[in-house]
Amino acid sequence: MTDVVVVGAGLAGLAAARDLEAGGAQVTVLEARARVGGRVEQVELPDGRRVQLGGEVVGNAHTSYLGLVAELGLTLTASYVAEPGEITRQVPGSVDVGDWPSWCTDADRASYDEVEQALAKVLASIDPDDPWSCPDLERLDRLSVGDWLREVGATPGVLRLWDLVHLSLSDGSIERQSLFAYARKTVVGGTTGSYDVEQWENLRVAEGSATVALTMAEALRDVRLSTPVRRIRIDPAGSVVTTHTGEELRADAVVIAVPAGPARDIDISGVSDARLTSLRRQRHAWAAKFVAAYDEPFWRARGQNALAESEGTLGSTWPQQHGVLSALVPPERYAAFAATDPETRTREALDQVAELYGPQATTPLQTWTRLWGTDPWTQGYVTNWRPGDVLAVGPLHGTHEPPFYVCGSDQWVAGYMEGAVRTGRGAAAAALAGK
Ligand SMILES: Cc1cc2nc3c(=O)[nH]c(=O)nc-3n(C[C@H](O)[C@H](O)[C@H](O)COP(=O)(O)OP(=O)(O)OC[C@H]3O[C@@H](n4cnc5c(N)ncnc54)[C@H](O)[C@@H]3O)c2cc1C
Repeated sequence: MTDVVVVGAGLAGLAAARDLEAGGAQVTVLEARARVGGRVEQVELPDGRRVQLGGEVVGNAHTSYLGLVAELGLTLTASYVAEPGEITRQVPGSVDVGDWPSWCTDADRASYDEVEQALAKVLASIDPDDPWSCPDLERLDRLSVGDWLREVGATPGVLRLWDLVHLSLSDGSIERQSLFAYARKTVVGGTTGSYDVEQWENLRVAEGSATVALTMAEALRDVRLSTPVRRIRIDPAGSVVTTHTGEELRADAVVIAVPAGPARDIDISGVSDARLTSLRRQRHAWAAKFVAAYDEPFWRARGQNALAESEGTLGSTWPQQHGVLSALVPPERYAAFAATDPETRTREALDQVAELYGPQATTPLQTWTRLWGTDPWTQGYVTNWRPGDVLAVGPLHGTHEPPFYVCGSDQWVAGYMEGAVRTGRGAAAAALAGK
């Protein structure tokens, strides 16, 4: 009999296990993959550059993550936001460099400001410490961001700009995103207007974001890799966790730290139906990450900062570090990307990068593609809160049913590595307190 079994060795499970051990618990972590880290993963180039294939950047608002990084003795450095040069926007027929794309009119610029003012009113109606108390929650959740933009009179150019931003983040088009979920994320992230990169994306861990997970795992006593969990039976007198080989582990408490999709594949009993329904109702945006490494950041000579928002298969690009370019394939374009052979996929991605930054893009040192959406142990990328989904998942989201504790970035309002660390530490604190 162990004190706590933690299922999943991503940032959430590792952060939970770390605090549980520090609190005196005997902890076993069970991880399906042959590595720890989950949605943070890195590889090393022969020249020593560590390349991130999953989660990468954080921002000032990510206080739990930043606190953990300090405790681990790792270093924060500026992310892509410090890259010199201008942003690029790509739509069929045009590639525009600079703050405003050529297809935006003066009327669009004025409309953009009006939309920001309208958004401020929505944000003011949500209490970051108690989003469920929002008086207009039901209406705001059923409304898509796109419908709300039309409701407040946004011009077609502004709708297109907003969709570019949302697809560049890859959590779903404005037409398939709950306004409440978007606004809740924004206020909880401590911002007062639409997406603020300083709060969400201005920093990264210099040693590599996956090093955060690796450092935590190294200090833990019992992490078992290649051990998928198939069944969890919760019982206050002693719970049982069954692995893929049929091995049974007994524990006083169980912390589940896996994404929504893989969580649905685990046979869980002994918790309320309402809890299971809430847990299983969440959906993920499927995204892929494409990374290309070069000797030098060749985009700089063209005055570009390698940050792009695009209506192409790659919805966004940004400079990960010196000469390394990251890109995301948003859910709306995932099928087209995944549905071909790896060589074609890579060539097409590099051709798009060449349209953005010139022919040097087609001769990288190395490229990597990670199809996170169809990875069996992730089945997604981040939560996609479609209109009505916040209400459907309900207020049990992110809460516990002792001795069953739930954590993971899906259990926070907006995913991110912050969500993983924050909910992992929260689950550990609750389990140690027995509530
Ligand atoms: C391409 C990409 C880019 C991203 N970029 C950023 C970014 O720049 N900034 C940011 O903050 N966030 C980013 N994120 C999100 C961030 O990486 C994740 O939200 C976070 O790492 C999730 O941590 P987690 O511990 O909640 O889940 P995960 O990391 O998914 O960990 C869950 C673990 O559970 C394991 N598991 C699953 N099923 C089982 C089972 N049955 N038994 C045992 N183990 C199981 C999995 O193998 C995995 O290791 C990105 C994610 C992706 C995919």
